[in-house]
Order: sequence, then C-alpha cells, then structure tokens
Amino acid sequence: MDFSFTPDQEALRSHVRALLDEVCPPEYAERCDREARPPREAYDALARQGWFGLIVPEEYGGAGGSAIELAILLEETGRHFEELAMWLFRTLTYGGYAVLRDGSKAQKETLLPKLLRGELSFCFGLTEPHSGSDAAALATRATRKGDGFVISGQKVFTSGMDISDYCLLVTRTTPGEKKQQGITNFLVDTKSPGIEIRKIETLGQRAIGTTQVFYNDVEVPGSAVLGEVDRGWEAVDSYLWYERLCLSAARTGAAMAAFDYALAYAKERKQFGRRIGEFQAISHKLADMKAMLDVAQMLVYRFAWLMTQGRATRHDAAVLKLTTGETYKAVSDMGLQILGGYGYCMEYPMQRFFRDSRLAVIGGGTSEIQRNIIARGLGL
Ligand SMILES: Cc1cc2nc3c(=O)[nH]c(=O)nc-3n(C[C@H](O)[C@H](O)[C@H](O)COP(=O)(O)OP(=O)(O)OC[C@H]3O[C@@H](n4cnc5c(N)ncnc54)[C@H](O)[C@@H]3O)c2cc1C
Repeated sequence: MDFSFTPDQEALRSHVRALLDEVCPPEYAERCDREARPPREAYDALARQGWFGLIVPEEYGGAGGSAIELAILLEETGRHFEELAMWLFRTLTYGGYAVLRDGSKAQKETLLPKLLRGELSFCFGLTEPHSGSDAAALATRATRKGDGFVISGQKVFTSGMDISDYCLLVTRTTPGEKKQQGITNFLVDTKSPGIEIRKIETLGQRAIGTTQVFYNDVEVPGSAVLGEVDRGWEAVDSYLWYERLCLSAARTGAAMAAFDYALAYAKERKQFGRRIGEFQAISHKLADMKAMLDVAQMLVYRFAWLMTQGRATRHDAAVLKLTTGETYKAVSDMGLQILGGYGYCMEYPMQRFFRDSRLAVIGGGTSEIQRNIIARGLGL
C-alpha cells in the first residue's frame, strides 16, 4: 500500500497552484462572489495552460491523466475558488468524460479539440421541479421529428446554463415500465431557439449560480443524442459517480482554505491578553477540523485510485460524497465561530465558505440520499 503521490503528480500540483496563486488570489474570488460575476479570466488562464486537456487521451491532444490527477487539479482549484472548480468540473465531466465515454466519433472530433482550447463550456440539466432526489422520475420529453427531436419541459438548478455552450440534458423519450427506462441524453446547444433561462437567487455560489430553464419545443438534430436512445440512465449514473469525485475534491480544497484562514486568525487574534488559539475551546475546534479534513482528503484519493482500478462502487461514492460534503459544512461553520463577530461580516471571507458549503450537503445528491445508499448496502 502506497499513499504517496508520484513526482509528476507533485509537480502537477505545484504548477496549478502557482498559476492559481497568480490568476485567482483570494481578493479575486471575493470580488467575483460579491459582484456575481463568473471567474472568466481565471477559467481562460487554466485553458491557456492546457488544464482542460488533463483527462483527455493523448490521441485527442490531451495529457491522458487519470482520476488521481483530476482530483489534484480540482482540489487545488477549489482551494483557490470553489466556483471556479465547479465551472471547470462541469466542463471536464459533461464535456470531457461524458463525450469520451459515450460520444460518437463525430462528437469527439468536433467537441474535444475545442474543449481542450477552453472554447467550450458545459453544464448538466437533470433536476426538475418535480424530480430532485428522485431524479429518474424526470418528465422533460424529447419526441422524434424527422431526423431530429423536439424537446419540451422544464429543468431547475441547471448551474451555469447562462455561461455554457452545451447542456448535457437528460430527457424522457419513451415511457418505460421502470422510471430508469426510456431515458435519452442530449448535448443541447444552449442558444437553441425555444430555450428560456431564468437566473435563481441563491444563498451561496453567487459568482456563477444556477438557473431554471424552460424548453419550449426546442428542435435538436439527431446528432445531438449522446449515447444510445432510450438507454441513457446507466450513463447518467456513471456521470454522477464522476461528479461525486470532482465535487468532493473541489470542496475538500475549499474546506482547506477555510481552515487555513481560521488557523491563521486564531494565531493572530488576542483576547484576555492571549492568542485565542491558546484557549482549548478554539484549539480543539481546529484539531477537529484538521482531523476531518485529513479523512476527507484520504477518501478523495482512495476513491480516485479505486476509479483508476475500475473498482469504485456505489457505496464508495456515497461515503465520499457524504463525508466530504459534511466536512466542508462543519469546517466552515466552526471557522466562522472562530472568527467571532468578524466571521459574520461580509468583509471577511469566512461567510462565503459558510454560504457556499451549505450546498455541499444538498447539490449532487443530498446527505440523506447518500445515507440511504450506504444503508441499502447494509441490507437495511
Ligand atoms: C445551487 C444549486 C445548484 C445545483 N446544480 C445542479 C445542476 O447543475 N444540475 C442539476 O441537474 N441539478 C443541480 N442541483 C440540484 C440538486 O442536485 C438537488 O437540489 C438535490 O438533488 C435535491 O433535490 P431537491 O432540491 O428537489 O430536494 P428534494 O428531493 O425535494 O428533497 C427535499 C428534502 O427531502 C429529503 N429527501 C428526499 N427524498 C428522501 C428520501 N428518500 N429519504 C430521505 N430523505 C429524502 C432530501 O434529502 C431533502 O432534505 C443544484 C441545486 C442547487 C441548490
């Protein structure tokens, strides 16, 4: 058993960290959050340095990296700015991984080179007003018309739809005996006529945020189908596992940034003539935060390694998502407490971690749903 990173993986981490230190310092992340402005400059800088090609095989011009390198990239990006990591992960998952897994030759040849150059970004439309945790109960219809399809329905919480070129859209093409049957995935051009986007005001994730999307008889060509017609659910399941790794790596990075800030503050801030970190009530909080982060980080790389071995299970993905999401939420909450009244002020960054981390136990499958998956595996 070897828990160490290779010299190449260490170099990858220091390269991406150096770039992000330069293009995505804390003030930049804070400004994007405050102004509800996507971190476009940092996203473009990642593209210019070739990071969008990390998981793309060499035959398509990428670096052919594994899930471990992907986790390093997202952890570092999350450490600088979680929403930048979210934007990056959506494109890498729904444009990179999904197209590599299920795309036709033509889709790969058209989309991957542009993705590598950072010219395309992708988002994911699964959740609907009446199907959230029960995601497979979706009702958005795609009906055949000539060589193509007409899509009608409504999605909610499609994050980044307004800044994406394509949405990986999950639709129902045929009513099946089981809700997981008759599902087809499309890569829909977000500028297609008939698409209406409404921004949703949220507590956190304010730089990119999320949207409600109306599909009013949107016509798409047959070439927009990703994978097989009527057999899309298995692919969605696989995308969601990949998403769980990406989210967990990014959020663990963000939780580390919250921890670093709280630790530095505890070493600096004095009350009753002593640094507050000398009070056991504060030092034990920091010790708990650090222990939780060690566990979260270990789970991220264990899961990434299991993926490289083709051995990751539904249980592993649920344990990972549950632990890293709850860790981010707890660390940000304790971090805010360590800052006292300043933690509650918008001028200090801790409130952003506190707001953003609240989504970690909801988005991408709630903590309750992860516990259900784990419990089912126990025969309960
Ligand atoms: C900011 C934001 C961004 C998002 N981004 C995206 C995105 O890009 N693409 C996308 O497709 N979706 C996205 N989502 C949707 C997200 O994945 C869903 O919100 C989430 O899966 C929960 O669904 P719901 O909100 O409908 O809650 P519900 O499913 O209605 O759940 C409500 C409550 O009931 C609990 N619950 C439900 N069923 C059970 C059960 N069987 N057992 C125990 N408890 C249960 C839940 O855990 C929760 O506490 C996003 C959501 C938000 C808020």
